[in-house]
Amino acid sequence: MSARLIDGKAISEQVLQETQDGVTQFRAKHGCAPGLAFVRVGEDPASVVYVGAKAKMCERLGIQSQTFVLPAITSESQVLELVRSLNGQKSIHGILVQAPLPDGMSQDRVFEAIDPAKDVDGFHPMNVGKLAVGDPGGFIACTPAGVHQLLIRSGIEIAGKHVVVLGRSRIVGKPMALILMEKGKYADATVTVCHSRSRDLPSLTRQADILIAALGRNRFVKADMVRDGAVVMDVGITRVPDSSKKSGFRLEGDVDFGSVSEKASWITPVPGGVGPMTIAMLMANTLKAAQFSM
Ligand code: NAP
Repeated sequence: MSARLIDGKAISEQVLQETQDGVTQFRAKHGCAPGLAFVRVGEDPASVVYVGAKAKMCERLGIQSQTFVLPAITSESQVLELVRSLNGQKSIHGILVQAPLPDGMSQDRVFEAIDPAKDVDGFHPMNVGKLAVGDPGGFIACTPAGVHQLLIRSGIEIAGKHVVVLGRSRIVGKPMALILMEKGKYADATVTVCHSRSRDLPSLTRQADILIAALGRNRFVKADMVRDGAVVMDVGITRVPDSSKKSGFRLEGDVDFGSVSEKASWITPVPGGVGPMTIAMLMANTLKAAQFSM
């Protein structure tokens, strides 16, 4: 392997430490803790794990969290009612509704019911709009914000670079492109966004100085899709059945790590790359929401 590894675990620890310091100062100044409410609908196993891990992290940092669990048969209007009641509670500064929601429930309507000032996931159209116009007063989706921090804190130059983003989802690809095409420090990239209708993907990805893969297709990006010396950020997480693991599965990214790490200059591993940053940025957004509310 010739690429340098971007250690998401170590960099997320930096962000968490800074956030914890901010939480301590917030508590001393205001006499209360930043508050984050989790809403989980149904028992999707991954969601149970994710919400549990986020709540545990809140506890570590001194953020007050509450988890509201609703049965999968809950109606959309009941979820909306809960969200609206959380919007009105002063001690709750952030609200996170864990996706995916049960079939038949509109994720968009639920996300849009969250007060934009409490939208620590950054999915509300108001916050997406603020990102699009370069207003720093909004919240940026945690995963792309985490990838951005990995680049910045690894000292990787972004200005003037050609970034190719694989994927155009509301959660990752689109906000990722907006962050990096923004005018200003730690941005100013030339960004190409690819998706399932893009033609001749390898010819596009080979142009990338920085390649960001967020497709949800394990080991999709092979060495022949990457130019020598590129920076490769792997957002993908796919559970692949693996009987040798206690859990019964292993995690794979969207990048064929073994071959691509021979060509790239920097690369994120899966797990231990982008993943830990998502939760760290959620904590940072919650502190920001609490600070903005004062
Ligand atoms: P998504 O909503 O399914 O979006 C996938 C995107 O990839 C879409 O834009 C799709 O194109 C594009 N795509 C899929 N197959 C393609 C192909 N063969 N060629 C070109 N483009 C293709 O997924 P997501 O929510 O953005 O998540 C992407 C991955 O990141 C998943 O593995 C997810 O688990 C992972 N993820 C990780 C974190 C983390 O914390 N590390 C957080 C969020 C997501 P179309 O738009 O044309 O359909």
